[in-house]
Amino acid sequence: MRKRTVALIVVAAVILALLGGVYWAGRHLFHEPTARGVDSIVAELDGERVLGVFAHPDDEQTVNGLFFRAHQGGAYTAMITATQGEAGHQTPVVARQADLGDIRRAEALKNSFNLGVDRHVVWDYPDGGVPEADEDELVARVVAEMKRVQPDIVVGFWPESGATGHEDHMQMGRVTELAIAELEASGGAYTGPKHLVSTISPSGALSIFGGEAGAFVVANQPKPEYAMSAEVAKKHEGWTIHASQSNYMQESYILPTWLIYALWDQEFYHVRDLEAEPLG
Ligand SMILES: [Zn+2]
Repeated sequence: MRKRTVALIVVAAVILALLGGVYWAGRHLFHEPTARGVDSIVAELDGERVLGVFAHPDDEQTVNGLFFRAHQGGAYTAMITATQGEAGHQTPVVARQADLGDIRRAEALKNSFNLGVDRHVVWDYPDGGVPEADEDELVARVVAEMKRVQPDIVVGFWPESGATGHEDHMQMGRVTELAIAELEASGGAYTGPKHLVSTISPSGALSIFGGEAGAFVVANQPKPEYAMSAEVAKKHEGWTIHASQSNYMQESYILPTWLIYALWDQEFYHVRDLEAEPLG
């Protein structure tokens, strides 16, 4: 009997050690060694007004920790979403495909409201067709929104990698830089943000699970200087609000959403100081 108890304890200890090892290895894939942990990127950069520039409804899920904590810290926060995501794949199907743009626009507006975002405009550029859209017009609209919001921090996509390799993301990253360069050169009352913050994807996990697109992102994105809490509870709420995309994470990564966020609980950012290095 005692021998049996000892054997059971040994087996349980081995199983726990194995689970712990798997968890540690899994978390390691979502860790960026160059990134310094901070409570809030916006607080760290003394930001008071933040504007996010994105391509699709649900892109804000990538940066919800940054926005939620910026709002908690008293910053004014705003977002642009360039498309209504009408070409998206529904998972699960919750609406007629012809209505998906309306549905996803509403999902994005509800999710940003849940994060405390003060203002959110969703435009109607074609989902999947942003690179073909009139670039000068896009830049002018982003400039106009920047003049209205007057952000000292702009958050968006790194143009060469777009966080996932999506061409709409990459083009919005490029348009964001062109808009800032135009404001810098304008010499007006507001000459653009002080910092440009790019969302960076975890390279370890992308290398292993991301396939060809993941390898492209890893090869073309800069190293992040900052890491902060991903506000995992808000991410789960966000996927519930994005009802047409609720199964997106588990469909993309095979693992259940709760397990993915048990491992991926940080957001990573590359920061450019635009006063030291203007874009124009
Ligand atoms: Zn997107």
